[in-house]
Amino acid sequence: MSEKIKNIFVFVGPPGAGKGTLSQYCIQHLGWKQFSTGAMCRKHIHEQTDFGKQIDFAIKSGKLVSDQLIFQVVEDWLSGQKNDSHSVILDGFPRTVAQAENLQQLLTTKFLGCSLHIIRLAITSDTVLYRLASRMVCSNYECQAVYSKADGLQRCTLCSYPLSYRSDDAHDVIKDRLDTYYMHEKGLLDFFRQQRIPINEVNGERPLQTVFSEFKHLVTALV
Ligand code: AMP
Repeated sequence: MSEKIKNIFVFVGPPGAGKGTLSQYCIQHLGWKQFSTGAMCRKHIHEQTDFGKQIDFAIKSGKLVSDQLIFQVVEDWLSGQKNDSHSVILDGFPRTVAQAENLQQLLTTKFLGCSLHIIRLAITSDTVLYRLASRMVCSNYECQAVYSKADGLQRCTLCSYPLSYRSDDAHDVIKDRLDTYYMHEKGLLDFFRQQRIPINEVNGERPLQTVFSEFKHLVTALV
């Protein structure tokens, strides 16, 4: 008998909050799957697909891609996972109320019985700015694992590709990305509260290994 997705974990938090790194821990240690809308967008731009050409400007200028375009790729990915019993992480989606409504609608029509869990990584802007200034990513677009300059690594420990900086982590773009994030955050969280979906806060200030330990405890209580 085929299994359906039972749990979707939505990671909410500004760029640099640690969503990607926490996802990596969940993939490696819990066997979960992750879909990062940002990573998917960068891959399309790199491959110069039609979708990539449409979103290139938005990404480079720190703006959001249209709700309709982004929801379509999330829906396609989730639909492809429906015979998989893993818990899945949505990293960076939904980011607006319209996206949250679309997701909610999708779950009630195609993923009945699937629970939605919201994990908010709480973090100050100072920590975010510090982390983004030293963030490095794997240059393999199939991987895009996240590192810090402080790790002192030149190559990805997962696939051996060289590490590089993200162009949208440049100082002038970061400010726009953070402004865009905070412009939507309150509405998004209010939407979940109205839907009586609890928002589970995790203190993202601490080292990511500590964050992961707390997260695992939380997961045991949630699922
Ligand atoms: P991220 O890797 O999550 O920081 O996302 C990088 C960029 O991808 C963002 O600055 C947006 O331009 C775009 N993006 C990622 N996720 C979304 C989303 N849910 N809605 C709209 N744009 C997105």
